[in-house]
Amino acid sequence: MHEASIAQSLLDQVEQVMAGPAFEGVTGRLVRVHVRIGRMTAVVPDVLRFMWAAMVDGTAIEGVALEIEEVPIRARCNGCGEEQEFVDIGFVCGRCGSTDVEITSGRELNLVSLEVES
Ligand SMILES: [Zn+2]
Repeated sequence: MHEASIAQSLLDQVEQVMAGPAFEGVTGRLVRVHVRIGRMTAVVPDVLRFMWAAMVDGTAIEGVALEIEEVPIRARCNGCGEEQEFVDIGFVCGRCGSTDVEITSGRELNLVSLEVES
């Protein structure tokens, strides 16, 4: 499943950050992981949260919440230069009708920050 491999990759990244220099001397407990996910990734936030919870269960970061910020799909029209938000991937410019559009956001799949509570 799509979300399971994404949850795994996020977990890998979190473990890397926690083992790295950014976490040196940090004594608090990790409580929340913030991620940005573009709508074009077709990730279902509830499913991802569920997969994440199942994955961290029994690990050192059991119970750590996944905070998901969804990023809308935006694209710029190469015909008229207008930037618009799209709800799905049938890209037609609402201004000039061109289908020559360039995606400017919505593909994100990023770890943004780790929230630690002391
Ligand atoms: Zn246009």
